[in-house]
Amino acid sequence: MSDYAERARAILPGGVNSPVRAWNGVGGEPVPIAEARGSRIVDADGREMIDLVASWGPAILGHAHPEVVAAVQAAAAKGLSFGATTEAEVELAELIRDRYAPAERVRLVSTGTEATMTAIRLARAATGRHTFIKFAGCYHGHSDALLVAAGSGLATAGVPDSAGVTPGAAQDTLVLPYGDEAALTAAFAEHGESIAAVIVEAAPANMGVIRPPAGFNRLIASLCKNEGAVMILDEVLTGFRAGPAGYWGVERDHDVAAGLDPWTPDLVTFGKVIGGGLPVAALGGRRDLMEQLAPLGPVYQAGTLSGNPVAVAAGLATMRLLTDEVHARVTATADALALGVSDALTARRITHAVGRAGTLFSFFLGLSEPPVTFEDVSRQDTAAFARLFHAVRREGVALPPSAYEAWFVSAAHTAADVDHIVATVAAWADGERA
Ligand SMILES: *Cc1c(COP(=O)(O)O)cnc(C)c1O
Repeated sequence: MSDYAERARAILPGGVNSPVRAWNGVGGEPVPIAEARGSRIVDADGREMIDLVASWGPAILGHAHPEVVAAVQAAAAKGLSFGATTEAEVELAELIRDRYAPAERVRLVSTGTEATMTAIRLARAATGRHTFIKFAGCYHGHSDALLVAAGSGLATAGVPDSAGVTPGAAQDTLVLPYGDEAALTAAFAEHGESIAAVIVEAAPANMGVIRPPAGFNRLIASLCKNEGAVMILDEVLTGFRAGPAGYWGVERDHDVAAGLDPWTPDLVTFGKVIGGGLPVAALGGRRDLMEQLAPLGPVYQAGTLSGNPVAVAAGLATMRLLTDEVHARVTATADALALGVSDALTARRITHAVGRAGTLFSFFLGLSEPPVTFEDVSRQDTAAFARLFHAVRREGVALPPSAYEAWFVSAAHTAADVDHIVATVAAWADGERA
């Protein structure tokens, strides 16, 4: 086991190709994963575990769904990449639009980072303005302008979160506390003339899961509309996972039931689920905005592997299998697990709060109220989470290796999986009380 780790660190910085995989948030040494099927992953030592990472979201059907694998194999046999248009990419884009009405036009890309980066460029071009607003703790990928307070509570303008981001790239990014209507209204009152866009996670899920305060997304939509700015709704994580039409769909259904007109974002970004585990992401939105993209308009955007036929085959198969009935199953599993774990913790007097948005949830140990801002979140007990992580892993449950992540369930998780997870958490909590 230490052999893998040494070899990995001798060639990959930190032994990983994406930082959270290094387990810095929980300590210890990750064992590489060898394979995954259904709700289970198996590491290179042959240990099978119930997986609650789901590749950080994409594996909503469970890992290696036979029909998705078959679709990928069939597509691969016909050629891995053409650098030309295909029918399947049109079909995937149509499917996205049919389920998510605000995506009137769709451009497929390979990563969520590309989708949000392009959305910002497009909003700036369309408005002729430079500044945009993001919220502390919301993550939108790793492009320069968006790496500002992507995990920092500083409610200030233009402080880069990463070395190598120039003040120039960050200075047009205005960072506000999430959910703070007064701060948002004040920012528009002060800078309205120069604000190109507001970018927001449909429901924040990269600082743990936060339920958007009632009316917050609607306020963003109406301020953007009134002030001539573009609302960019980031559904890279929530899209087709938080609900059948993402978290936007959750609020739309709620609004319609309450007799309200639904609010509508101008641009939307997708990723994760729409690729079914292969690299597909997308930018969608209002036709007049989207048609400013090249080759129709002046906003350049391109990709050698955009709409790659093998990746699109995985996405299309996943999206077709992701029926309302499958969503209902994922919801039932999320309900059972979120409630079961919370009850087990409560029974053992472990202070915690549950963050819940559609099918997404996470636990905040040490907090007694669900948090809203990154500042709230940062008061959680991350040391307790690290103990929980290692305790349940020994019993065959693979949690995300960070207190700032959702616990991802899939349609493949069974009632027995839920019972086992709850029992391992309960056993950990017993140990904490002892
Ligand atoms: C994962 C994620 C991204 C970045 O997507 P990548 O495919 O990792 O580049 C952007 N926004 C949100 C909300 C995400 O969860």
